Amino acid sequence: MTESEKIDPYEDLPLKKWLRTDRLPFIFCSGCTIGTIIQSVATVFEKEGYSRKEIVVVSGIGCSGRSSGYFRTGTFHSTHGRALTVATGIKVANPKLKVVVLSGDGDLSSIGGNHLIHAARRNIDITVVEMNNYIYGMTGGQAAPTTPPHAFSQTTPHGNIDPQWNLIPLVAYSGATFLARWTSFHIHRTRETLAKALSHKGFAFVEIVFPCPTEFGHLNRLETPVEMMKKMLDVCEVSVEKGPWEAEIDWTRRIVLGEFMAEEKPEYTQQLEDLRIRIQAKEAEETEEAKETEGKEEIEPNDFSYEPLSFGYPTTKEQSITEMIVAGSGGQGIISFARLLTKATFDSEGRYCSQSQNYGPEARGGLAYCQILIADEPVPFPQVTEPNVLVLLSSRALDRFEKIIPKVKTVFYDPESITIDHSIAPNTTFYTVEATRIAIEVIEARQVANIIMLGALTAITEVVGEEAMKETVAARWPRYKDLNLKAFDEGTAIGKKLKEGEED
Ligand code: SF4
Repeated sequence: MTESEKIDPYEDLPLKKWLRTDRLPFIFCSGCTIGTIIQSVATVFEKEGYSRKEIVVVSGIGCSGRSSGYFRTGTFHSTHGRALTVATGIKVANPKLKVVVLSGDGDLSSIGGNHLIHAARRNIDITVVEMNNYIYGMTGGQAAPTTPPHAFSQTTPHGNIDPQWNLIPLVAYSGATFLARWTSFHIHRTRETLAKALSHKGFAFVEIVFPCPTEFGHLNRLETPVEMMKKMLDVCEVSVEKGPWEAEIDWTRRIVLGEFMAEEKPEYTQQLEDLRIRIQAKEAEETEEAKETEGKEEIEPNDFSYEPLSFGYPTTKEQSITEMIVAGSGGQGIISFARLLTKATFDSEGRYCSQSQNYGPEARGGLAYCQILIADEPVPFPQVTEPNVLVLLSSRALDRFEKIIPKVKTVFYDPESITIDHSIAPNTTFYTVEATRIAIEVIEARQVANIIMLGALTAITEVVGEEAMKETVAARWPRYKDLNLKAFDEGTAIGKKLKEGEED
């Protein structure tokens, strides 16, 4: 296989275990070092011997908010300012997980400012990697609470008059127990500190100052990324003994770097667990007393274990993990297809499902595809690595996934816009489902082609029971219930016919 024929050009990347190579290269601007920070975090995960199942990376919105999407671990790209609320929920739900927040200065300290101080106040065991570029980069260069005095931004064209927030003392005062600051140039020091922060039991806050040449640099007349990096390093001072109150950050004069605090204090989830045990013991005591006096039944204490829902549909045939890609063009209902399938499977079968979606900036017409995993075990990250089912609904989808067809066990496609020479994949089973033609000629609604395909797939793969799938389709858009059910029935009829043809 030549280099150009390789499906994954990052096959030999040492951090492939931790990074989603299907998303590389990084989208960040030239000269931006967010990618370097992401790689440092991944390197620490690897070096410190963590497993992917125990790590969850959460981010907010902004350039650095894109970070979580690059990890092949549990990830959550949350809304603006809410990275710490989501991270807190995850940690409380499962304290065994190592929860890492990667987010920007503006997101964490402005929109998410309240969450930052209260997460620190609780000393919850979360590691925060705050990437400080002094500005809102992705939204066009607006001033943040961390923008230095007199600095130019889109919202401070005559220089910033707001005082700058120094997040290290702020978070220290709020109650954090591990505090450090480095720059994206000090990679080795950053890695050493991150390893300590991850093993620290409590709220760990590591600030990484990095240059944003596109916005802060451009608006403050620092013309090149190198010039910016040099200016930053010129004023850096590494400290081994300063506390958080002395961690000055003045981009023109002095930026103090180092580890400023590592303290032991009661951690939040541990306190929560202690509280739960106390309450349960009290409840058990009260129940015992009540039983003695009134003969009441004993109440089972809540063990907080997770039970998947089961709506009592008949279970379909045993399957190992299903790795599916559903691809088409924007506007064809690709995401709806994936959501319906995973919802029906999760609700009726109690199996673990994940669904992640990719689509371009085009609202309609561009490539859109979803990756679906259905398994009996928890799904550690939502990336399909060895697809066994491929559903293609447009020629764009074929262009993108044609190369992997010979590796896939089952391929569904719509012949309306796709022609496939089946001889390219002798071990693959192809199902040609005339979804668009039926949608137009029989249902008279082109937009239900996805539901027809879903019906055919349900009948053929039996990955989910037909009744469960049908009920989910009916409930999703009550206004179009009849139309969708008609389409689904057409699809299952086609699927059954194709299957019968195989068996004959
Ligand atoms: S805008 Fe700034 S922070 Fe964002 S990717 Fe570009 S250089 Fe990096």
